Amino acid sequence: MSKIIVIPGDGIGVEVTAAAVEVLKKVDAKFSLGLEFEYRDAGGASYEKFGEPLTAETLDACKKADAVLFGAVGGKQWDSLPVDKRPEKALFGLRKGLGLFGNLRPVKVYDALIDGSPLKPELVRGCDVLIVRELVGGIYFGARCESELVDGVERAWDTEMYSVPEIERIARLAFESARKRRRKVTSVDKANVLASSRLWRRVVNEVAKNYPDVELNHLYVDAAAMALVMKPSQFDVILTNNIFGDILSDEASVIGGSIGLLPSASIGELTSFYEPIAGSAPDIAGKNLANPIGTILSAAMLLRYSLNAPAAAEAIEKAVDQTLADGYRTAEIYRDGCRKVGTKEMAAAICARL
Ligand code: NAD
Repeated sequence: MSKIIVIPGDGIGVEVTAAAVEVLKKVDAKFSLGLEFEYRDAGGASYEKFGEPLTAETLDACKKADAVLFGAVGGKQWDSLPVDKRPEKALFGLRKGLGLFGNLRPVKVYDALIDGSPLKPELVRGCDVLIVRELVGGIYFGARCESELVDGVERAWDTEMYSVPEIERIARLAFESARKRRRKVTSVDKANVLASSRLWRRVVNEVAKNYPDVELNHLYVDAAAMALVMKPSQFDVILTNNIFGDILSDEASVIGGSIGLLPSASIGELTSFYEPIAGSAPDIAGKNLANPIGTILSAAMLLRYSLNAPAAAEAIEKAVDQTLADGYRTAEIYRDGCRKVGTKEMAAAICARL
């Protein structure tokens, strides 16, 4: 038995997690995975019921589970609440409570959707990259000063700091992930300028010695930003720190054409966490318009990374490929000549191909 906590959250989170659970139930029946689902609230939905965006009971249930499947949180009706009651607070609580130290974001360009990319088809064809971002260290968490006066001049500062164990942990995740893919890691840093990056590079080289079957190269972040739009297909796994990963993963996310297609995983010390990269999309919520593919592919990552069920994960990914190749499109990726469907119909079409 594997217990999955499902947190639909707010807005389209409810619809896209329902679609992903339907797909998981179908693969469960096929591969006998023994999945068990338990539903919990977070974000605005939790605030309405319990007066808190994340309750201690929900966090505890997540800690004890094998994995968490999350939709999205947020909505205008909660925007004026005090900061500690706002829906986004649930995400911070879950990240911290579960010790989510590594974020995995795959970006794949589907042949069937290649015209939807803002880049030229010949540049993005074959792009299938996984960004592995360190999530709990670096400049976002380092010591900072909002304001100080030095010789009558106001200044502010932040600190980029990494320890050897922090770099080793995320590097191992990148190399292990590369072993599940095409066995190539590109480590991105700014070692020509930053001391923290020079340590990063030294430690990554050390960790690489344990993975002789994985090819390693290094790129400066400025060169990596250019390479991602010039020739994204050259990358397999990109390993990087918190701030560079934040920027590069958003840059990469537009390559595929729709935010609704992209999954993510946050790997934890206790339990790992799987969610589409998009938000709660209040503009289309409750209308059966949301693209469920990002969440369905997040469910596939859950099977691969938390339940060690690569064949079931691959079956879902192949079914998504086939559904898109057969012309099924939700509204935001619809083109003439394709078959326009809603959230539920897209999930049903994917299930039918499993
Ligand atoms: P958003 O990602 O929700 O929406 C941006 C645009 O993309 C919208 O036009 C939306 O309709 C579209 N879109 C998003 N997901 C889609 C899907 N699956 N299918 C089709 N179209 C899709 O970002 P936003 O509008 O800036 O934020 C809305 C709310 O979501 C805010 O309250 C914000 O704080 C929250 N948010 C939550 C998360 C999260 O829970 N992880 C992440 C980002 C934003």
